Amino acid sequence: MQIKNNSEAMKLISNKGGLQDELALLRQRGKTIGFVPTMGALHRGHTSLVERAIDENDACMVSIYVNPTQFNDKNDLDNYPRELERDLETLGRYDVDFVFAPGDKDMYPGGFKLKSYDFGQLSRTLEGEHRPGHFDGVATVVDRFLEMIQPDRAYFGEKDYQQLLIVRKLVELQNHKTKIIACPIVREGDGLAMSSRNQLLSPADRKFAAFIYQSLQQAKKLSSKIDVKSLKSWVEEQFRDNPALKLEYFEIVDARNLYPVPSLDEAESIRACVAVWAGHIRLIDNIEISS
Ligand code: AMP
Repeated sequence: MQIKNNSEAMKLISNKGGLQDELALLRQRGKTIGFVPTMGALHRGHTSLVERAIDENDACMVSIYVNPTQFNDKNDLDNYPRELERDLETLGRYDVDFVFAPGDKDMYPGGFKLKSYDFGQLSRTLEGEHRPGHFDGVATVVDRFLEMIQPDRAYFGEKDYQQLLIVRKLVELQNHKTKIIACPIVREGDGLAMSSRNQLLSPADRKFAAFIYQSLQQAKKLSSKIDVKSLKSWVEEQFRDNPALKLEYFEIVDARNLYPVPSLDEAESIRACVAVWAGHIRLIDNIEISS
């Protein structure tokens, strides 16, 4: 890992024209590019992706763009933390070469139109079911980034496990040359998965939110002892007993295609995925049950 004392060498690019100039230079010199797309309000989850991109490529580019089309809830979009100055300071401590912070016109030159893709089950279930249109927004913006930047590698966190599978499928459907690299979930000391939305939690809800990962860990332990139906009921009951948190879904799925698994020996690799409301904030998490 390389950490710098200042951000002298880091360039901020704020539009498509500037991006193309820098990319042309990099290509001329035959440099490989590692790309980390983010919506900013950076934390150690994000910087773990950045460190990996720095280690594995000649140049590292981080984008900061709060993509309006992936928000199905206007309040969530309005309240989403935006802190570019602080993010630039954070990235300046690493060996990041470029921060790309585009405007809406760069990302959506024809207005906020969504492309349509066939992700099958991957976009129908879990977040796709509970946040209609979310993955069309994600896929449209990632598609645009990959088309504009054509990075050698792009880094995505397993925190958004379904998104990771969607992006892999997108690359296949659109024939992008970029290799998608999955990075493990980074957690707070009490196990809560790091998220830009965590800072919006009230102090009391922040404490209660640690229960989300605890229940995933317990579910994993129990998974060798009871069947899927009982396991789901057990988790649902745990949340019913916890009035501070509201369970939106808990699902046990085949980790490759996200179909629900009727029994735990039905698939080679299995994930448990959860979405929970803590006050007005919606949090997601997941755990590998078997691989
Ligand atoms: P976001 O800014 O929430 O769109 O996230 C940008 C990237 O960082 C996505 O690939 C996320 O999956 C990843 N990410 C966010 N939180 C974490 C975390 N706690 N651990 C690992 N990766 C994360």
